[in-house]
Amino acid sequence: MRAGKACRAWAPVRAGLAQFGLLVAVSVCGAAGAAAQPALQLDDTGSEPRYIQVDDQLFDAAVFEAGVDVQGQLRVQPRTAAPADSSNVERFLAFDNITFGGWDYGVVPVEFDASVTPTQRAMFMRICQAWGRNAPITCIERTSQSGFLSVQKQSSASVPSTCFSTVGQFRRLTRVVINLGDNCWADSVVFHELGHALGFQHEHQRPDRDTYLSVNLDVVPDNARYAFALLNLRDPLGPYDFLSVMHYSAGAFSSTPGTPSMVPREGYMSYATSMGTSREPTGLDHEAMANLYRVPMRRLSFTAPLQGARTQFSRTDFLDAMERLHAFYASRMGLQRDGGLSIGGGPDFLGIATWIFDVYLAARSRGFSSEQSFQMVAADITRTDEWRGKHPGESPLARPGFTPVVSFDRQEFLQVLQQLDAFYRSPEGLQRPNGLSIAGGPDFLGIAAWLFDVYLNQRLSGASPNVAWTRVTDAIRATDEWKARH
Ligand SMILES: [Zn+2]
Repeated sequence: MRAGKACRAWAPVRAGLAQFGLLVAVSVCGAAGAAAQPALQLDDTGSEPRYIQVDDQLFDAAVFEAGVDVQGQLRVQPRTAAPADSSNVERFLAFDNITFGGWDYGVVPVEFDASVTPTQRAMFMRICQAWGRNAPITCIERTSQSGFLSVQKQSSASVPSTCFSTVGQFRRLTRVVINLGDNCWADSVVFHELGHALGFQHEHQRPDRDTYLSVNLDVVPDNARYAFALLNLRDPLGPYDFLSVMHYSAGAFSSTPGTPSMVPREGYMSYATSMGTSREPTGLDHEAMANLYRVPMRRLSFTAPLQGARTQFSRTDFLDAMERLHAFYASRMGLQRDGGLSIGGGPDFLGIATWIFDVYLAARSRGFSSEQSFQMVAADITRTDEWRGKHPGESPLARPGFTPVVSFDRQEFLQVLQQLDAFYRSPEGLQRPNGLSIAGGPDFLGIAAWLFDVYLNQRLSGASPNVAWTRVTDAIRATDEWKARH
């Protein structure tokens, strides 16, 4: 069982965005208690995410408040001018220019809390698969990834609904939460909340919503008005869809029975009672999801590095790259391998050495960003026979050429990966019967810590392979785990 910290109770408070008049619920949840061994701190990613809740949608508070770019994933900018408004709808909040990249290549590593029953797990996976009808979405079991979706069932008497979710993978290498209390396990609700987890906002909070319906705030209690705030998180939006599984029904939050809070405008009256009643995604929902996840495979838009050349690297960088590679191996856009970077229960060392050392490291050294560098990896994988064989008729991605500042012989790193795996198993090492595998997946943290942090940086500072390897074993012998075994 994972030893993550529990979230504190969710309680609506006026905070953070009060200047916008937005009622939000803010909560602080513990970050991932990701794989306990070796005891590593993620230097710049393990900070505890603080959420801003808008209705049942959770956003990264730091991104929301600062309007800054976090790892290129989610960009938020407050509107500088009040939007033109000819309607009677009070504006609570509007954001522009928010783009969202979604989970890496549509692959969502999922971890269920112990309280989620086998039947509920099966239902969740079935609904995830159904979201993949048109979009390349795949839910996989989390092995030891630091970035994953945690399915939990918290409940609290003070919380109006226990069905809520973060919107997309807002931050990398972090546990993000979808909460499905016992009242949430209906198809329509799981589709809706998982829609959020995959990156969707509410249809009725689209910025062009007022073209299609009017909101009657007179019947909406003050503390629920935030649920009609306008947001713009999705690109492109596609046609407005009253029947979307992400749309609320006409009476949502109405305090007056029989009086709707949302009324379709002229020309759309046929949706007056049917809006928001879908039990499953519409064709337009599926199309929008496909559009969201097709993005990573569009032509690369860069030719030059965004940053300066470098010869020093952080472990986090490679941890992130390996998790991306694992996702691309598993993705329907990528190699479609069920085990991702695992072969026969063990890590695919050749894959890691080839793509992370040969291509990713080289691109990073040239000054390409982590995002750009991984796109290089993906582009090169699309040029392999394996990818072409699995994607007949599709064009491989082209990528710019470059001269690496740092390059090593792949064979050397392949050998060190195998040595490390053996040392993990051996009597004089960590005595782990599965070596560098955790739950059938690569031990991402172990590889990042010893191979990238220690070995690579030793080699970059001029140490010989032998000396660098000795530093690795010395470092492992200094861990509590090693000491406990010896
Ligand atoms: Zn929702």
